Amino acid sequence: MSVLNTISSKEAIDLEYNFGAHNYHPLPVVLNKGDGVFVWDVEGNKYYDFLSAYSSVNQGHCHPKIVNAMIDQAKTLTLTSRAFHNDQLGRYEQFITSYFGFDKVLPMNTGAEAVETALKIARRWGYEVKKLPINKGKIIVCENNFHGRTTTIISFSNDPIARDNFGPYTDGFIKIPYDDINALEIVLNKHDDIAGFLVEPIQGEAGVYVPADDYLKNAKALCVNHNVLFIADEVQTGIARTGRLLASCGNCSCPNKDCSATAEVKPDILILGKALSGGVYPVSAVLANNSIMNVITPGSHGSTFGGNPIAAAVAVAALEVVKEEQLTANADRLGKLFRAQLNNYILSSSIVKLVRGKGLLNAIVINDSEDSDTAWNICLKLRDNGLLAKPTHGNIIRFAPPLVMTEEQLLDCVQIIVNTLKTFE
Ligand SMILES: *Cc1c(COP(=O)(O)O)cnc(C)c1O
Repeated sequence: MSVLNTISSKEAIDLEYNFGAHNYHPLPVVLNKGDGVFVWDVEGNKYYDFLSAYSSVNQGHCHPKIVNAMIDQAKTLTLTSRAFHNDQLGRYEQFITSYFGFDKVLPMNTGAEAVETALKIARRWGYEVKKLPINKGKIIVCENNFHGRTTTIISFSNDPIARDNFGPYTDGFIKIPYDDINALEIVLNKHDDIAGFLVEPIQGEAGVYVPADDYLKNAKALCVNHNVLFIADEVQTGIARTGRLLASCGNCSCPNKDCSATAEVKPDILILGKALSGGVYPVSAVLANNSIMNVITPGSHGSTFGGNPIAAAVAVAALEVVKEEQLTANADRLGKLFRAQLNNYILSSSIVKLVRGKGLLNAIVINDSEDSDTAWNICLKLRDNGLLAKPTHGNIIRFAPPLVMTEEQLLDCVQIIVNTLKTFE
């Protein structure tokens, strides 16, 4: 055993504090092992993971099929760059485009890179296909969005913590309230220089805001009418998390939970990341049909690691697991059970205002001011009771366990959560 395996929690936290930039404020727990829905800390305590690395580990920690795909590929060929072809990329591209029902994919690594890629594609499409005046194209975005951390992406964030003192910012974005179809219609009627509308089907970071049932369907229809690209950022909501393969599909009338090809709400540009690798490797992707993706030409966009053989092999395995283990149906069923159980508790609770979400992407809103530390203290207590979750935006706690959870485990978790909440009433 190496020295790293015998480090205490305190030592590990001190090392991070002393030698790492302070760009996060983690819950004080130091993990060194994961398996399925569980993680362990360096002292050997076992926890339910109720964050899943922000919905990256949908397939469960260290899923053997995904890890083995990675190990096998890592022993064979890891990186060629796109200067040369590799034998995994084309196979992956065929697989993922048919899986989600698009003509083409552009492979990247992180979610933010995929969002940047989608914005670049939409702008080019605006000039070269829609014939907008050069460099005047606009993208509509929503208030309280979260799309990543690049300079352009934070340019249209309204979170001061993510934005302040990082200017000058990229322009060309129009911000409208989320879940407000009238606001979208007004902007689309007023401006004729719009290339795309970028939206999260559920706003995850903002606190799991689920829009009205017909919002995405109506937004897509408005985009079609105005020849504007409907761009869905499903980095957090996609890949079975919300009880559908894609959250945008949950808003159409198609009964097939594993369908993503329905015209009603099918995005023109789909952005995926996080669970695309089951959390073992950074893999992201942008999907679109030829009429849009063909604006990308050799040299106009790229990434040294994007589309590398490990990423390709891992993503195929991760997407296969979603279907083989019927994770959409499990997320749908357990999500309904979870909200029913918590709603039952909330009836007699003064500390929890409400629970909301879809599938296994849920949140509770704590009955306290946004700048109170109640949600943080509840998360510390949940940790002590064997369950890891993290507040988002002050008084909101997101609950997003791996989708491989069983009903028995979920009910065990509800018990932990309810018992913990009771001590705060
Ligand atoms: C996490 C996230 C991103 C950014 O992904 P990174 O891999 O952290 O760059 C973008 N959009 C949404 C909706 C996300 O949840």
